[in-house]
Amino acid sequence: EARLVITGTGIQLGRHMTGRVQTELDQADVILAMMDDFSLCWLQQKYPDLINLSQFYGKDGEKDRRQTYQEMEDAILAPLRMGKRVCAIFYGHPGVFADVTHAAVKKARQEGYEAIMEPAISADACLYADLCIDPGLYGIQAYEATQFLVYDRPLDPSSTLILWQVGVVGDLSCKKFHTQPENVRALVEKLKRWYPADHEVILYEAAVLPIEGHREERLPLNRLPEAEFRTITTLVIPPADSWLPDLDALEALGVTADALP
Ligand code: SAM
Repeated sequence: EARLVITGTGIQLGRHMTGRVQTELDQADVILAMMDDFSLCWLQQKYPDLINLSQFYGKDGEKDRRQTYQEMEDAILAPLRMGKRVCAIFYGHPGVFADVTHAAVKKARQEGYEAIMEPAISADACLYADLCIDPGLYGIQAYEATQFLVYDRPLDPSSTLILWQVGVVGDLSCKKFHTQPENVRALVEKLKRWYPADHEVILYEAAVLPIEGHREERLPLNRLPEAEFRTITTLVIPPADSWLPDLDALEALGVTADALP
């Protein structure tokens, strides 16, 4: 019976895949996969007929990613419409900073098909472990880097900030795979509204291969334009400000600021 499952491999090759995901792959008539070349080869060993969704990407600077995403969505829905049991597997968590996956589930449901998303380990799940950052400690804000840059978004510098897709920050053409130092400079200028120029920031990359360690490059904010950015780089900005008590809320609770931890 036709059914769509969208799921993920997690970040680290072979090690983050859940039993639940494995079962879905084993039961699928058609598997479509979007991940780095190493992970794809690994998955192809067990599922040689899988369809590689990366084929829809154009060369750097040539093809609008929005077109690529539409083609991926169409490729996922085509076998479903032919009555197949389809499993589309993406790297990381399929629903975290991903357009195609949510769009495909929505479209499939609109067309009357059963469609579900299965969670998997995302880059930020690795980040909390590798960088020893508990999101509950200061609170977390997460933005897509370009969206944060080009829109007037609020920011609370007393929480930890995670900027995703910083490796393509400022690319409004949606065609590039690498950012330019001037785009990073624009991001730094914006961040300086809330953080001092020498505030320590972290460039983070979770290990994809079991043989490598994670990247944790700590540098002052104003040195970011000289740093190396890759498509998998995530920018983490530790808190700069301390918190002030909310006196109205404390009064409503009938306590004073002395009661705060
Ligand atoms: N769905 C993915 C997940 O669950 O992590 C995220 C996909 S999003 C399109 C791509 C962004 O995720 C990258 O620009 C980067 O910010 C982050 N990312 C992906 N792989 C990463 C890794 N190995 N380490 C750190 N961040 C990563």
